[in-house]
Amino acid sequence: MDQEPDRTIPGLPLARGLGWIDGPIANSFVLREGSSLYLIDAGYRERATPIVSALGSVGLTPRDLSFALLTHQHPDHMGGASFLRWAWGTKVACHTSDQAAIQGQGPRTAPAWVRLFVRRPPVQVDRALRDGETIGPFTALHVPGHTPGSVAFYHAERKFLFTGDAVLAPGGRLTLPSRSSTFDPDQAIAALEKLAHLEVRLLLPGHGRPVSDVPGERLRTLFRERSARPVQRQKTLFGPEGRPEMAPHL
Ligand SMILES: [Zn+2]
Ligand SMILES: [Zn+2]
Repeated sequence: MDQEPDRTIPGLPLARGLGWIDGPIANSFVLREGSSLYLIDAGYRERATPIVSALGSVGLTPRDLSFALLTHQHPDHMGGASFLRWAWGTKVACHTSDQAAIQGQGPRTAPAWVRLFVRRPPVQVDRALRDGETIGPFTALHVPGHTPGSVAFYHAERKFLFTGDAVLAPGGRLTLPSRSSTFDPDQAIAALEKLAHLEVRLLLPGHGRPVSDVPGERLRTLFRERSARPVQRQKTLFGPEGRPEMAPHL
C-alpha cells in the first residue's frame, strides 16, 4: 500500500482517505475523495451509532456524507441508512434490483428468520444504480446472487473493491456467503467471474478483515474453485427445495 493512513478519516485508517468502521455485525467504510465523503454500507444499528460516533471523532457528522452506498438490502448493511437520511439528510444509493426491498415496497430476500425477527427500517433511495454506472469515484458492479441487487463498488483508480456480502473474508480468507443465506447460490458463483477480472489492491468485504495480500489473485482462485464444483441442490432457508420464497416486507 503506497498510501499513508490518514488520521483524519473516521474509523480505523486503512489508507489515505479510507477508514474502516467495524460495526457489531458488518463492516462499514468511509472514503474521502477530494471534497466528497462516501459511506459504504450503513451497518446494523438502527441509529447508526458506530458510524455517527466514528464521524464525530474526527469532527464530522453524517451531513458531511455525499452518499451512503448500500451493497445490498440485508439489515446488517442498510439498517442505519433510514436514520442517517432522516436525521441528517444523507443521500442513499443502491442497485435497482434491491431498491424496492430497501424502500419497503417490495419483497425482501433475507432468510425467513431474518425477515421475522430483525428490524430494518426502510429508507427512500435517492439514486438507483445499474451495472457499470459510476457514482463519485466508484463503478457499481452488479453481482447478483446473495440478493438480486447485490452490488460491489470498485474504485478503478486506486484498485479498491468493496464487495459487501458477494465476497466475505472471515479471518482474512476469501469465501462466499453460506448457501443458506444466499438467494441464488449458483448466480452468486457466476457473478464472481466479474470480480475475478479486476485488478484489486485492497478488497474490503462486508464481513471479515480487509485483504491487501494479492486480493485479485485470491479472487481468481476462489472463482476457479467454486465454479469447478458440481452444483449441489439443497434445501435453503428461503423455502422448500431451494426455491426462493418471496415474502412481503415485514
Ligand atoms: Zn447479506
Ligand atoms: Zn452481511
